[in-house]
Amino acid sequence: SVNDETGSGPAVASPNHGGRAPAYLGRARFDWLIVGAGFAGAVLAERLARDLGKRVLLIDRRPHIGGNAYDHLNDDGLLIHRYGPHIFHTNSAPVADYLSRFTDWRPYEHRVLAQVDGLLVPIPINRNTVNRLYGLNLDEAGVEAFLKSKAEPVETVRSSEDVVVGAVGRELYEKFFRGYTRKQWGLDPSELDKSVTARVPTRTNDDDRYFADRFQMMPLHGYTRMFENMLDHPNITIALNTDYRTVAREVRHDRLIFTGPVDEYFDFRFGKLPYRSLRFRHETVKQEWFQPVGVVNYPAEDVAHTRITEYKHLTGQSHARTALTYEYPSAEGDPYYPVPKPENAALYRQYQALADSTPNVHFVGRLATYRYYNMDQVVGQALSLYSRLAEAEGGTRAA
Ligand code: FAD
Ligand code: UDP
Repeated sequence: SVNDETGSGPAVASPNHGGRAPAYLGRARFDWLIVGAGFAGAVLAERLARDLGKRVLLIDRRPHIGGNAYDHLNDDGLLIHRYGPHIFHTNSAPVADYLSRFTDWRPYEHRVLAQVDGLLVPIPINRNTVNRLYGLNLDEAGVEAFLKSKAEPVETVRSSEDVVVGAVGRELYEKFFRGYTRKQWGLDPSELDKSVTARVPTRTNDDDRYFADRFQMMPLHGYTRMFENMLDHPNITIALNTDYRTVAREVRHDRLIFTGPVDEYFDFRFGKLPYRSLRFRHETVKQEWFQPVGVVNYPAEDVAHTRITEYKHLTGQSHARTALTYEYPSAEGDPYYPVPKPENAALYRQYQALADSTPNVHFVGRLATYRYYNMDQVVGQALSLYSRLAEAEGGTRAA
């Protein structure tokens, strides 16, 4: 292996080939070329190779596998996530079972506090949030009545503003959601689909978990190790630092799975699909702990970052120091988030129609299907594409 960061694992070629496919790839023949070694690409590589015996070339233009879920030890030996905090949660037993073939788990329930009015209070808004912010001592029924008295329901909930104002009223909306959303997306919540802020529920009880899913856990040895185990198969060849453009014509393959941005695949034919980016500032501080929970959100607009992550809460690692990541939203940079709003959905539909009519190419994952998907949803999407592919092969195999 020539990839230091992923350690011992699958055979990984990390060629420095100056924009051309390395010669050995040109000599080989592959059943499938898979572009992108994140969840979408890795699940399909694993299934096609292990279950159907296909020869797969998996490429990524980054120097590592794992896509945005990539984690690694930093210079201080602390396990961090290069692209921001990734917490695994799902209601899908098949998805959890599938990934459990490649990793053991550490139970972890994610908790988030928001800095509002100089206090650190639970987000999602719950009973404690209301009582602490307003100096009250309401029970559940009391909080329900309080929020109902504040809420300004709209007839048709369309935007990310409507969702929150309709549930908790304008004041709490402005304290917790308006500034955070404007920073994160560069858009006012009134311009974003309701699905964005609807990711965060409102509660009247004391449940302070960020997610309510049945399964909530972290891969015991990290995401990268889990990906290494998935991809450790003789039929899978991995080429890192390798862009699709450099190998498209030179590597012989029958079929293609593309998990990068769909507009890029089609040379931006209908124009650029907006993706939101982030800049991450990673740092280690020389103290054992920095903040009481894994993530603290900063909704105030006069603070540049949206949130700070302290990984030891997520990973369970013991260490005298602690590693943090600050997130600064940005229009420029790697595409991380599709931007859910009606015009973008319409533009995506044009690309989707083109994708659907492109033979022998399948588009899957968060960037290629322009969906604000969590990891488990991408795994589910990839497994269901796999089922269709396997069925078309005439087999009766299931994932
Ligand atoms: P990606 O992980 O983006 O992988 C696509 C890969 O394709 C990339 O590695 C890219 O380099 C490669 N690629 C693209 N184009 C090309 C090309 N032309 N040639 C070669 N390679 C190419 N989900 C959760 O479930 N829980 C969380 O807590 C969570 N937190 C998140 C926090 C942040 C800051 C972000 C950005 C996302 C978070 N997610 C979370 C979502 C999660 O990252 C995605 O659901 C998942 O990683 C998507 O997998 P994917 O394979 O579709 O895409
Ligand atoms: N959000 C907010 N304030 C918060 C948390 C979330 O306004 O304290 C909004 C914001 O628009 C954010 C969206 O809800 O982009 C979804 O939040 P989530 O934590 O799911 O975002 P992700 O982890 O995907 O970045």
